[in-house]
Amino acid sequence: MHAFQYRRQALWCEEVPLSRIARTVGTPCYVYSERTLRRHFRAFDDAFGALSHITAFAVKANSNVAILRLFAQEGGGADVVSGGELYRALAAGIDPGRIVFAGVGKQAKEIHDALQARILMFNVESHQELELIDKVARHCGRQARVALRVNPDINPQTHPYISTGLKKSKFGVSIREALAFYRVASRLRHVEVVGLHSHIGSQITQLGPFLDAVKKILRLIEQLRAEWINIRYLDLGGGLGITYKSETPPHPRALAKALTPLLKPWLLAGGTLIFEPGRVIVGNAGLLLTEVLYVKSGHPHPFVVVDAGMNDLIRPSLYDAYHQILPVARRRVRAQTVDVVGPICESGDFLAKGRRLPQSRPGELLAVMSAGAYGFAMASNYNARPRAAEVLVQGGSFTVIRRRESYGDLIRGEFIPPSLKK
Ligand SMILES: *Cc1c(COP(=O)(O)O)cnc(C)c1O
Repeated sequence: MHAFQYRRQALWCEEVPLSRIARTVGTPCYVYSERTLRRHFRAFDDAFGALSHITAFAVKANSNVAILRLFAQEGGGADVVSGGELYRALAAGIDPGRIVFAGVGKQAKEIHDALQARILMFNVESHQELELIDKVARHCGRQARVALRVNPDINPQTHPYISTGLKKSKFGVSIREALAFYRVASRLRHVEVVGLHSHIGSQITQLGPFLDAVKKILRLIEQLRAEWINIRYLDLGGGLGITYKSETPPHPRALAKALTPLLKPWLLAGGTLIFEPGRVIVGNAGLLLTEVLYVKSGHPHPFVVVDAGMNDLIRPSLYDAYHQILPVARRRVRAQTVDVVGPICESGDFLAKGRRLPQSRPGELLAVMSAGAYGFAMASNYNARPRAAEVLVQGGSFTVIRRRESYGDLIRGEFIPPSLKK
């Protein structure tokens, strides 16, 4: 059963009414359903159950340590893109042997920390990064396991900001240069080539782009084998989409079913797949709870001013993303077309535009749905707004898994130079 449901006109998360959370914790706050998080993780992981694989959760989608701990308990690994994410994954208890490290701008210190933690492998994005990894590994007296990130030049048919596998993208090396890249890597003393990585984009709602990418990659793996370069780990990245409005993305089982025949020979030869799902696991497992402050007239629509803004949830402003908005208490009132906007001093600060909503009034609670991925993780302190609290619901109880920031938190780490103190 869906974890976010109306019971007698009130919206609940699992066995807790959202109004109770708002009363106790305040708004804005993020609310996650543990049941849904686990169910989504298992749905993905079980879909590939018959195949040798690691489900490495993409930490950037939601990096709260309590949530990462759930996935650690489920046997998940992590896909990290910074030293900070590595720190979070380790703090949450994720097995380092199931952590992969991607990102175009890895720094020597981050590489060093990841080697010391003995992560599974680096997903290398450039020649110079490869050289640096070799050098840092030599200094630490270690071998760095690497996969090279290959850009298969596939259009994932998604928003340009989250398309990462096109020729013009900054990620990885083009599939045409990949062979030469591998030859260089295989000659480095402190680098062990173990894998191949490809991540073509996010919020992908069709199977085609994944399959096209895999077909191209399998040809490359063949060429590599002819040169005695053996790919043991094939990391196919993340990117599976979710339903925000009316999208119909494939179920992970459909992806598994379509991939299996293509990958069978390689898997039988001893290969292990890695997946880096983010959005598909956490996206629909969380919502953003906000309170209506004011309703004011406006053109073409009235404005509903709420206490959550683009600093809390930037997706509508950044990608023109759609998030369903539901009243926490359903009342018998007329519907109205409105713009739902935040308190930030930017015209781009909105959560919904031209949306049909039951007539709102101050003090009313709204739930911004599908906010579990790239919600809190992209939050900022813009306009000196403390970041929202995060709450985990577990059946009939709930826990604050990140307290609301205080004003003190806002200036922590800032200093007035002595010369200005006079
Ligand atoms: C963002 C990202 C992911 C996760 O993408 P989702 O669309 O959330 O599944 C996985 N791998 C890499 C390298 C990424 O950059």
